Amino acid sequence: MKLENLLYEKFGYAAFRAGQKEIIQDLLSGKNVVAMLPTGGGKSVCYQIPGYIMDGLVIVVSPLLSLMEDQVNQLRLIGEKRVAAFNSFRTMEEKKEVLRNIEAYKFIFASPEMLQSPFFLQALKRVKVSLFVVDEAHCISQWGFDFRPDYQKLQHAVRQLGNPAVLALTATATKKILQDIIDSLGLSDTALHFHSIDRPNIAIQVEGIDTLEEKKMRLLSYVKELQGPGIIYCSSRFWSEALAEGLRAEGVEGVSHYHGGMEQEERMLIQQQFINNQLRVISCTSAFGMGINKSNVRYVIHFHYPANIESYLQEIGRAGRDGKDSIAVLLLSGADHDLPVSIIQDELPDQKRVAYFFSLLKKSLLQRDTISFADAEYIGIAAGLHEQHWRFIRYQLEELGAVQDGCILVSALSSEIQQIINDKVLDRLNNKYEKLQAMRNWLQTLTCRREAFLRLFHDKKQKQPKNCCDICGIDVTDYKQIQKEKSMPVYEWKTELQLLLGMKRRWDYE
Ligand SMILES: [Zn+2]
Repeated sequence: MKLENLLYEKFGYAAFRAGQKEIIQDLLSGKNVVAMLPTGGGKSVCYQIPGYIMDGLVIVVSPLLSLMEDQVNQLRLIGEKRVAAFNSFRTMEEKKEVLRNIEAYKFIFASPEMLQSPFFLQALKRVKVSLFVVDEAHCISQWGFDFRPDYQKLQHAVRQLGNPAVLALTATATKKILQDIIDSLGLSDTALHFHSIDRPNIAIQVEGIDTLEEKKMRLLSYVKELQGPGIIYCSSRFWSEALAEGLRAEGVEGVSHYHGGMEQEERMLIQQQFINNQLRVISCTSAFGMGINKSNVRYVIHFHYPANIESYLQEIGRAGRDGKDSIAVLLLSGADHDLPVSIIQDELPDQKRVAYFFSLLKKSLLQRDTISFADAEYIGIAAGLHEQHWRFIRYQLEELGAVQDGCILVSALSSEIQQIINDKVLDRLNNKYEKLQAMRNWLQTLTCRREAFLRLFHDKKQKQPKNCCDICGIDVTDYKQIQKEKSMPVYEWKTELQLLLGMKRRWDYE
């Protein structure tokens, strides 16, 4: 069957988007592929079509629950039942059930942690794995903005599964990071597909503002005037709540906040309401967005700027997935510059905390030779480490050979190792500060902003859009509402969840 016919039959699309067909052909000819595609560039077609042609299982590694769930739902929507996800949403019993019938599946989505489980790998070995997909592959590189140590262990899983074809996908990576992906996965015979990450339908505006009060007023007028739906990014949980509250107090309807500190159910609900157009505006931290498949977001406003360009591009890339005109506005004031620094510092454990953690570990180890990860993590909390810190230290201990069978060895907890960890923290911090500096330089740029960020990715502007950036010139009235938008009433979240699950009907409340 021709690839185009399969595309139409399965997905209802008449033609491939740029790059998709070439990637598929390379995979079918037995090559490994590392591909950079723009956000919303149709990554899933690149593995689903070969998946249908190859006889065997497709494994998709994904870093985030919401991303996984979204892709599973997409496949189910096109009638694919042979799909399962392995993550914390599934009970142990559900997972075992899938593994018992592994032959009946075509697509398995799993977290990188799951692929370290010998039990899981053993079950996968019973079937032929034809394609191993690494989504958000920039997480492999420790120089990426979103490094996940568990991604570096994927090479082992690929080997264990008999070296199936590998497809590594990312929407944001420099050349150095693409090379890191190839090295870390141990890939040979690799085709590199590089497609412009430029999204000409997103206009880019950076606006200098003097005071906080003025900034809030500017935000309000944008939210009142711009065609929605829209997303507002800010730097903290506190701000995401405060801005939503402030907008509501000014009479803006259909606003909600979202951040990582909220209950899982509440977060899912807000995502769902936003996707269903029940909410017009989400005020959120960077926790919002990945795996949210919403094509008609018309604007993204940064109330605070992120600590690196990669995050900025990922966040503005959530606008205009339908290809229609959209705008990204960044509101910049002098007081904003301290925020990303404190975010960066909080991401890594400082020397004091590392020292305290080591001393607590040694005390608890007096009677033993080893300590389990679970116990060590618990001790870490007492030492003031949060989850991200603990993951970093655990990864370093593993790299340094201080771990055996999932336990930390007492004998390995030397002051030398402690020093190496501190040095690694410093390396990582310096890398993050460099990225922050690149972001700040970009904010100060005096030439086309689009060209400036594309250059960082060795990319070029495809064409000059009518509305490019504030430096080339933008007519903001093109993005204003033509008619006053109305949003559906939104209830307290428990009620909304009941409505969503069909336990109550909306008219019971109206
Ligand atoms: Zn421009």
